[in-house]
Amino acid sequence: MGLMTKDQYIESLRKLNPVVYMFGERITDVVDNPRLRAGIEATGATYEVAEMDEYRDLAITTSPLINEPVNRFTLPPGSIDDLVHRVKLNRAIANHVGTCHQRCTGLDCLSALSIVTYDVDQKHGTSYNQNFIEFLKYMQKNDLTANAGVTDLKGDRSKGPTQQADDEMYLKIVERRSDGIVVSGAKVHQTGSLSSHEIIVLPTRAMRKGDEDYAVAFAVPADAEGLIHVVGRSSLDGRELEGVDCGNVRYSKNCPTLIFDNVFVPNDRIFLCGETEFAVDMVIKFSSFHRQSHGGCKAGKIDCMIGAALTLMDYNGTSKVGHHKQKVIDMIHRAETLYGCCLASSYEGKQQASGSYFIDTILSNASKIHEGKELSESIRLMIDIVGGFVADMPSDKDFEHPEIGPKLKRYFKAVEGVPVENRIKMFRLVEKMAMESADTISDIHGGGSPEAHRVTILRESDLESKKRSALRLAGIEG
Ligand SMILES: Cc1cc2nc3c(=O)[nH]c(=O)nc-3n(C[C@H](O)[C@H](O)[C@H](O)COP(=O)(O)OP(=O)(O)OC[C@H]3O[C@@H](n4cnc5c(N)ncnc54)[C@H](O)[C@@H]3O)c2cc1C
Repeated sequence: MGLMTKDQYIESLRKLNPVVYMFGERITDVVDNPRLRAGIEATGATYEVAEMDEYRDLAITTSPLINEPVNRFTLPPGSIDDLVHRVKLNRAIANHVGTCHQRCTGLDCLSALSIVTYDVDQKHGTSYNQNFIEFLKYMQKNDLTANAGVTDLKGDRSKGPTQQADDEMYLKIVERRSDGIVVSGAKVHQTGSLSSHEIIVLPTRAMRKGDEDYAVAFAVPADAEGLIHVVGRSSLDGRELEGVDCGNVRYSKNCPTLIFDNVFVPNDRIFLCGETEFAVDMVIKFSSFHRQSHGGCKAGKIDCMIGAALTLMDYNGTSKVGHHKQKVIDMIHRAETLYGCCLASSYEGKQQASGSYFIDTILSNASKIHEGKELSESIRLMIDIVGGFVADMPSDKDFEHPEIGPKLKRYFKAVEGVPVENRIKMFRLVEKMAMESADTISDIHGGGSPEAHRVTILRESDLESKKRSALRLAGIEG
């Protein structure tokens, strides 16, 4: 089939028939539902930029596996150059959509699987890597999007999968058959599951002996029998349904809960099945890749926030105010430090036994810690610069009202010559970028909780060599 245009991508989703619930109702028109469509448009941008002269070289490359041009979002990294391009592409698309495009998680799963399935086979004589390669060919040849089914509900956090009162707090193999397995349970916060053709499931945590039924990785179509998407609420989602005050007029993000009610996975779609010691490796590889993806993307989101702040400085009459310029500088250096850290994690990447490349985990986790704090700080700076209307501007319906509208438009004017409508639109965009929970909360918890990033840094760092440096400098014999 080959590369898809954005329109072909959207049409391809129409061929799927997923079971979807939203706000207590069954939804059948996923692609045309305005709330869901805004998320689909954001993923559609990964196809759209691939058609644009400006981005084509960044977005399209040749897959050595199928020897054909592919979108980078289906290419596990085979070189340092590929690792670097991931970051650049994520930043470019974030500039285009101003929110989460939702396609990076699938690539992060493919990238992790390209490394770990090989290692499992080496130890256990299994054929997961071959299953994965065939799946990857299918993804690449058809230019498909996948999401990441990683996060389990986890129940009581002090207990492991087998100690829970309910044995499906972690997604579980409930039946082993000669032709495959049957799984039940749920995965939560599923960014872009309804923008995806395929759902890739990986374990959410390290597993121990006894956890064999939970150490499972596989892929199923987004409309597999028994799979149910329940769309999560996000703080501004009602506006997309109403079609007013959206802020970002094209794009948004949604994160459904995915219930697996006895879903069958055929043997050739299984990538891990009971090899408990490799669950942790899948988690580390996926989450480190994902933390790197975040850095490129969120640097691009801060770019959009800086653009909104500068524009409102022009509209409000504060473009020459010194402390506003300083705050813009503070936003720029935060975006660039984040970007620099992700690029560094790419340049320090190393080839793995399977041939794929893996980033430097310490640097990618450092960038995620930076993002968690500094994106929030950048939002604070943006709101400081633009003023309080981010919180409580009247609706566009009021601005268009025949009686109150003209009065509102008169009083909401600022700099002479700037159409009041433009000022209103820009405030609304700032509100969306600052307060859409599905996007802003992922800056903190996406790719694992902040503590998970810190623990990874401590575990992966060479602490002994740091001590040796200090001991030598102090003249202490070791
Ligand atoms: C907007 C958004 C998008 C996301 N997208 C995806 C996605 O596409 N795919 C996906 O699979 N996941 C996704 N996630 C999930 C994300 O990875 C998780 O939210 C994250 O791993 C934290 O898990 P949790 O929400 O269950 O919180 P918890 O794990 O409950 O963490 C809450 C707090 O408790 C602490 N804690 C929990 N358990 C322990 C313990 N045993 N010991 C010590 N401290 C503990 C944590 O460190 C944290 O401080 C997304 C999350 C968000 C918010």
